[in-house]
Amino acid sequence: MHDRPLEQSIGERLHAHATALFPIFRSITGEGLRKTLAYIGRQIPLTVTEVPSGTQVLDWVVPLEWTPRAATIRRMSGEVVVDLVDHSLHLLQYSQAIDRVVSLSELDQHLYSLPDQPDLIPYRTAYYAQTWGFCLPDRTRLAMTDPEYRVTIDVDLAPGALSYGECVITGTDAAEILLSVHCCHPSLANDNLSGMAVAIEFAKVWASRPHRLGLRIVFLPGTIGAITWLAQNRDRLPQISHGMVLTCLGDAGPPTYKRSRRSDAAIDRAAAYALGELGHADRVQPFLPYGYDERQYCSPGFNLPVGCLMRSPNGTFPEYHTSADSLDFIRPDALAGSLALLERVLTIAEADRRWRNTQPFGEPQLGRRGLYVKIGGVGDAGRGAAGFDQMAMLWVLNQSDGSASLLEIAQRAGKPFDAVQAAAAALAEVGLLEPTD
Ligand code: ZN
Repeated sequence: MHDRPLEQSIGERLHAHATALFPIFRSITGEGLRKTLAYIGRQIPLTVTEVPSGTQVLDWVVPLEWTPRAATIRRMSGEVVVDLVDHSLHLLQYSQAIDRVVSLSELDQHLYSLPDQPDLIPYRTAYYAQTWGFCLPDRTRLAMTDPEYRVTIDVDLAPGALSYGECVITGTDAAEILLSVHCCHPSLANDNLSGMAVAIEFAKVWASRPHRLGLRIVFLPGTIGAITWLAQNRDRLPQISHGMVLTCLGDAGPPTYKRSRRSDAAIDRAAAYALGELGHADRVQPFLPYGYDERQYCSPGFNLPVGCLMRSPNGTFPEYHTSADSLDFIRPDALAGSLALLERVLTIAEADRRWRNTQPFGEPQLGRRGLYVKIGGVGDAGRGAAGFDQMAMLWVLNQSDGSASLLEIAQRAGKPFDAVQAAAAALAEVGLLEPTD
């Protein structure tokens, strides 16, 4: 029965996606990435593209495909010290194959641990370095005192492909929202199973409600995936009217929005407004050419209106890129809150249009068009049953010369966005406004 609040059931559904995806061993290429995309494709419509290794993409080349099968460090007695089977973070990403006895001093140069967090396994990558390595708790490392160990890493590094997935929900306009989610990290929950979970459920939300803008969600490996997608979709980029990278959306911290390189794009205005509604205006951060794939979308040649939506930003929480970023670290209520915030931001962004008053010479006669009836009897407060108020309507009529967006008008008028939007919708319905985009 429905004895639980709706948010909780949505939160549990979001958390269940993360739980299902958590054990899959992901990297920037390979079977784990494909299994992840296959899972997403069972939830929402998804087209998967395979780009062959060696393909030139912007200034990069699609790498060889990495297939890890087993990785262990064993004492000479055969006793297992570290085993990939126990945790997907144990193997340095893109490690090369090795199968031999190594001295402790040599092995030590290939071990990664966190002395300040001695029980946690760090997440480390070596995508573009030719090396091998293991990540392990510092406590385990300190206990390794034998003169030599047998090290086995059974991997393939061979020509294959880089996979990415796209979920496209068309709108009535050709313009699109781009959401980008990296899915290359192995068993890490906040970074970035939370982003995948929220994106999956948001696709369902957008598809189930009236929408003018199309929605394109790209699920891809970080950096190289975004670069590959950009290289292959240059003709599509002018259609992107708003975009966001989704990551770290499940921790208990308050929401954070990092502005696009443009700083004042419509998506930046919408996100800043939505965070302000929640009392988190102070969590709007300036653009920074670091972090996630916003730095690709916002590289100067593209300069797309793409910000980044997070809760606690990357690198600011002690669980970041460690085995403590586990399923316990992400919370159903935080995931549900992130989904609701994402919907709010994009609802505002979609509605934040620039209109033109079709009767700009003098005030149009509202009563003749039924608008005066709608707002009649409202009194000084001006809020009518239809959800708009007279002052908001007058502001929209006055400011709509095509230069100001509805959110800009709302801020100038000191009115809630929803009131201004409702007034604009009523005016558009009777032909007093026409869109300029
Ligand atoms: Zn990361």
